[in-house]
Amino acid sequence: MNKETLAIHAGYGKDSQGTMAVPIYQTTAFAFDSAQQASDRFCLQDLGNIYTRLTNPTTAILEARLAELEGGASAIATASGQAAIFYAVANLFESGDNIVISDKIYGGSVTLFKYTMKRFGLETRVFENDNPESIEALIDDKTKAIFFESLSNPQIAVADIDAISAIAKKHGVISICDNTVATPYLINPIAHGTDIVVHSCSKYMSGQGLALGGAIIDRDGLTEFFKDNPRYAHFSTPDASYHGLVYTDLPFPAFNLRIRLALLRDIGATPSPFNSWSLIQSIETLALRMEKHSSNGQKVAEYLESKSEVFNLNYPGLKSNKYYDLAKKYFKDGLCSGLLSFEVKDKDTAWKILDNTDIFSIVVNIGDSKSIITHPSTTTHQQIPLDEQKEIGITEGLVRLSIGLEDASDLIEDLETAFNS
Ligand SMILES: *Cc1c(COP(=O)(O)O)cnc(C)c1O
Repeated sequence: MNKETLAIHAGYGKDSQGTMAVPIYQTTAFAFDSAQQASDRFCLQDLGNIYTRLTNPTTAILEARLAELEGGASAIATASGQAAIFYAVANLFESGDNIVISDKIYGGSVTLFKYTMKRFGLETRVFENDNPESIEALIDDKTKAIFFESLSNPQIAVADIDAISAIAKKHGVISICDNTVATPYLINPIAHGTDIVVHSCSKYMSGQGLALGGAIIDRDGLTEFFKDNPRYAHFSTPDASYHGLVYTDLPFPAFNLRIRLALLRDIGATPSPFNSWSLIQSIETLALRMEKHSSNGQKVAEYLESKSEVFNLNYPGLKSNKYYDLAKKYFKDGLCSGLLSFEVKDKDTAWKILDNTDIFSIVVNIGDSKSIITHPSTTTHQQIPLDEQKEIGITEGLVRLSIGLEDASDLIEDLETAFNS
């Protein structure tokens, strides 16, 4: 089936009432028929629900849909994108290990790895996104993951996913791709050899800025990969916290099984059933919205390209952009989503544009139906010193736009007014 159809039907075959809309199972816990059944559920003899921190029927439908949309083996929905990224990495490392990350990723991921997880004993090594070969020299026998974004936020760089996945495979290291900005409608990293896909569902998946959410999708065949694999021995040796259970011995995708049984159990950043339901509604229109975000993004980018005050305009749908060929190669019909950035001469000029737009809201989110304008240097990246900001391409004149679903000519007129004010 195609993605448009999967986004509307996958994972839900209607309940006993014939309910068309997916029901919300707004409950914390589930009753057992008998003491025996309760006991069977806890030892995985019976896979029914126990407690919403672990599984919930509404969330299960969202998970099935996300797994199908990404072409993966299974999915786990989480309370936010940050929770998804934390679980995906925490599932692999122990103190003393290292992770190799792209130099073009979300600021929250950078602080998660470089500061928070450092305190847990994870070392972070940074590779050049535009030069995947730079990964090789960073890998050693303590490397547990390679982490990158398919279309990065806020740098709007396209990753050479085939090249990164091939290096990961060659060294037997798990690759993790954050596919938040591109979404599964534009690309399936797993089809390009990536092992794990993570999402912030709070952005384009939600699409209207309604609900936080995250997801982790694992590829088929990972259970085999983990069997007797010394780099990831904790998947194929007994887990003392689960009566000596061996994840690779069970007939389920081992990566996500361990996240559910061990990490969701212990850490618990599970989505509320209501947010899962909200995301299910949103994902029904993902294809339509991504087409429109992308065509609007293209039109606004072409308008900005014609303006002499604008430089370092970054939108991979423009022929002049250095990622144009990669975007054409990897993204469905060369569509590039709705995120773009550009520079003006200084902070005052950038702020003038922010303060004089009418349709654009000054917000640090992306992927909303409503267009958004951001000044990263004084907001999302404010905690990073100015000289370090420059090194990662965040200058004081940088403006980021998340192009919504309004009429493109209205957006262009609004920007023109702001430039001229
Ligand atoms: C927003 C974002 C995240 C974090 O997601 P939350 O849902 O806000 O926790 C992670 N990665 C990327 C690329 C993002 O844009």
